[in-house]
Amino acid sequence: MTREFIPPAKPIVGDEERAAVDAVLASGQVASGPEVAAFENEFADQLVGGRTTVAVNSGTSGLHLGLLAAGVGPGDEVIVPSFTFAATANSVALTGATPVFVDIEPTYFCLDPQAVEAAITERTKGIMPVHLFGHPADMTELAGVAERHDVALYEDAAQAHGATWQGTPVGAFGAFGMFSLYPTKNMTSGEGGMVSCVDDEVARQVRLLRNQGMERQYANEVIGLNNRMTDLHAAIGRVQLRKLAVWTETRRQNAAYLSEHLEGVTVPTIADGATHVFHQYTIRVAEGRDEMVRRLREEFQVGSGVYYPIPNHRLESLRHFAPQLDLPQTEVAAREVLSLPVHPALSAGDLERIVEAVNALAKAGA
Ligand SMILES: *Cc1c(COP(=O)(O)O)cnc(C)c1O
Repeated sequence: MTREFIPPAKPIVGDEERAAVDAVLASGQVASGPEVAAFENEFADQLVGGRTTVAVNSGTSGLHLGLLAAGVGPGDEVIVPSFTFAATANSVALTGATPVFVDIEPTYFCLDPQAVEAAITERTKGIMPVHLFGHPADMTELAGVAERHDVALYEDAAQAHGATWQGTPVGAFGAFGMFSLYPTKNMTSGEGGMVSCVDDEVARQVRLLRNQGMERQYANEVIGLNNRMTDLHAAIGRVQLRKLAVWTETRRQNAAYLSEHLEGVTVPTIADGATHVFHQYTIRVAEGRDEMVRRLREEFQVGSGVYYPIPNHRLESLRHFAPQLDLPQTEVAAREVLSLPVHPALSAGDLERIVEAVNALAKAGA
């Protein structure tokens, strides 16, 4: 039987985004300008409690510039999870610092605060949790560790626009927090990133670094990059920002439906006092995960994703940082996780088909 394929992610871009891009093109001002400034302010107000935010050309640039602005460099260590997208550790390595990989706790797939504390050395400059899949890391415990050892907190909130921990939005805890605006994330600007900054000095440094080290033209103060966002991208982002709350609510409702109806697999849980924005809806399949991925696609036309099959500390690019490391919870997660579609473009029929497919395969021991 052939049915329409249900994709694992689906960026929703419509007439309003197109009109916003057209207006920028018609204005003749397409590089960084008033749209970027407006996007930064609106993002700050809506998502990080009014902190100063700086727009850049990707989430990865945001992490990189945030770390540089925080003074991270050669000789420093930054604690990161291994169970994440490689951009987390890449950004640390690109500053010349050493990423120190630490295990996750098994419930929410985020940094394990006890393991973080055990990994602190006199070189540790900061801790960079990832709010993976849209669920916040335990910021209470992690802030406690950071305070006891006098190290900084940085946040990779690439997947967690709008998530909160004990009433505080993610991205408002660390010296900086980064949100990605890549098309598969909860909102997009085409490509892009937002850096939420703890104070005006961090914000000033990120602004300098994104623009060749200049605040005034040709008066370069520091060595910088060109990581600016364009007004074309900001115009798309502003429209998406207005739709984000409704999309997030739909993701949460889709997740609730899946959790209510799935059987034979481990469904996601939400920590007390946390809001989960379900960038991914990630289940654990104890046996035969890869077979389930294949059969979901071939027999039920249901797309799914494995984020992430190879822990960062075993990637060819990063393994020299930790040649002998064993992270047991990270390894189990890499073997068991499977992310099902949860995006706001799903229909009621799609959700029913996902449930029917997973339950049939789980029952058959696929
Ligand atoms: C997407 C992502 C990034 C990088 O963001 P880009 O906008 O793609 O550069 C970093 N960290 C995590 C956890 C991500 O999911």
